[in-house]
Amino acid sequence: MKIGFIGLGIMGCPMSKNLVKAGYELVVFDFNKEKVAELVALGAEEAESSAKVAEKCDVIITMLPNSPHVRSACLGAGGVAEGAKPGTIVIDMSSIDPVESKSIGAALAEKGIELMDAPVSGGEPKAIDGTLSVMVGGNKESFDKYYDLLMAMAGSVVYVGPLGSGNVAKLANQVIVALNIAAVSEALTLAVKNGADPELVYQAIRGGLAGSTVLDAKAPMMMAHNFKPGFRIELHIKDLNNALNAAHATDTSLPLTASVMEMMQALKNDGCGVNDHSALVKYYEKISNTSVEKK
Ligand code: NAD
Repeated sequence: MKIGFIGLGIMGCPMSKNLVKAGYELVVFDFNKEKVAELVALGAEEAESSAKVAEKCDVIITMLPNSPHVRSACLGAGGVAEGAKPGTIVIDMSSIDPVESKSIGAALAEKGIELMDAPVSGGEPKAIDGTLSVMVGGNKESFDKYYDLLMAMAGSVVYVGPLGSGNVAKLANQVIVALNIAAVSEALTLAVKNGADPELVYQAIRGGLAGSTVLDAKAPMMMAHNFKPGFRIELHIKDLNNALNAAHATDTSLPLTASVMEMMQALKNDGCGVNDHSALVKYYEKISNTSVEKK
């Protein structure tokens, strides 16, 4: 079975390499020819466009930045729909707006092409290790059929529900992470302004109910002022905007998500969009005229 792979960026490049390692034959496409060359060196075949990938493969994975890129790669000029045979399946592993997943899926279905949404969490290190968490929306039969393919890149692959559900799960993840980072920033700022050592406050509370994966991953980065990404603020803004779009499409209000999105936007306006999302603490430091940095 030949697998098409479109989008060989920070995530797609190591994910596609893991498929090659697992013994799959790959046909790849990206505008970035250096990334394509890396995969060709490992035995993958190069295609000139997404349409050409689709001519050669019945199963196509996409790993692209956001909804417009997925729409363009699937339905635009030179896109998958131009080259695909009926019966082809696209597994979109990008993190996009679930409303768009359903809309792109409906347009592809008119041409007999199926779409599953299967976004991931875990970031570059887990993409390299092949231990991503994948959350999948689409037909259950297709999920069962392609489970092993997805597991070649993952530590866990969970079926969530119909098309769009994978991205709903991913957005729920991104909302929880963003709001936790804001809470950690707020708490460390409170500590330092009231004369407590934020490191000792962190050590005192991390074993209790306030303890979390976010607290352990991000509080040390905040106190070291180490904002090397990790996960960039500009990508988190994209996800929170997608969460707000999906919420508004169903008359849902996300007041905390909207606030944290605007904090991240303010940081981006200040040139911090490429920082790790733990740099949210800089927003709090600015509005309270302080620093949580360990001296
Ligand atoms: P990236 O910007 O590094 O890579 C995207 C790649 O897609 C680029 O190589 C670009 O040239 C290519 N591309 C764009 N449009 C294309 C098109 N029409 N046809 C072919 N190629 C095209 O992005 P990334 O960090 O790999 O992220 C991909 C997705 O995974 C995003 O939705 C992101 O939110 C999500 N994600 C990223 C991380 C992370 O830590 N980077 C973690 C989890 C999920």
